[in-house]
Amino acid sequence: MTRSIDPGLARRVRLVSFDVDGVLTDGSLWVGVGPGGVETETRRFHALDGMATRLLQQSGVAVALVSGKASQAVAARAAELDIDYVSLGDPTGKVQALGGILGEHGVSWGEAAHLGDDLADLAVMGRVALPAAVANAVPEIQRVAAWVGLVGGGNGAVREFAEALLRARGEWDDLVRGFQEGGRFAGTSES
Ligand SMILES: [Mg+2]
Repeated sequence: MTRSIDPGLARRVRLVSFDVDGVLTDGSLWVGVGPGGVETETRRFHALDGMATRLLQQSGVAVALVSGKASQAVAARAAELDIDYVSLGDPTGKVQALGGILGEHGVSWGEAAHLGDDLADLAVMGRVALPAAVANAVPEIQRVAAWVGLVGGGNGAVREFAEALLRARGEWDDLVRGFQEGGRFAGTSES
């Protein structure tokens, strides 16, 4: 378990996959019943994480969301952020889902990272080159992670990982300089 990422490994990563519940969110599911008895389920996302996926893409790293649960709220957030690949509720599981995405993007497991929090991520974590865990991931996930964050899911954990990866690649300072000079990400509404 470490908080720094090997620079050579970081530079090999061409696609980062994020679990959703417990990673992009704190794991809360806000379930309600609306007019007509229609069930609604919403999530709370963090703006820091929205910027993080933009920063990864800006650096040429593709971003995937892979969740075992189908969710209109997650699909909407993914669309808002122009996430490259989204797999929600694939009944064949996360290995199949991410494997398909990697094939579509033309990258290998050895060029992929995954940030997870719970047992459903375990098989994927065993295949990617850079398995990573949020601070409040279950012990089984922390144990197999090459990197474990200090931030819990839903509170900027995706941002923390993205920054660690981009720092290890030696790209973080240039990205920050782009903001100092202004004009980058003119189209995004993220803070
Ligand atoms: Mg999860």
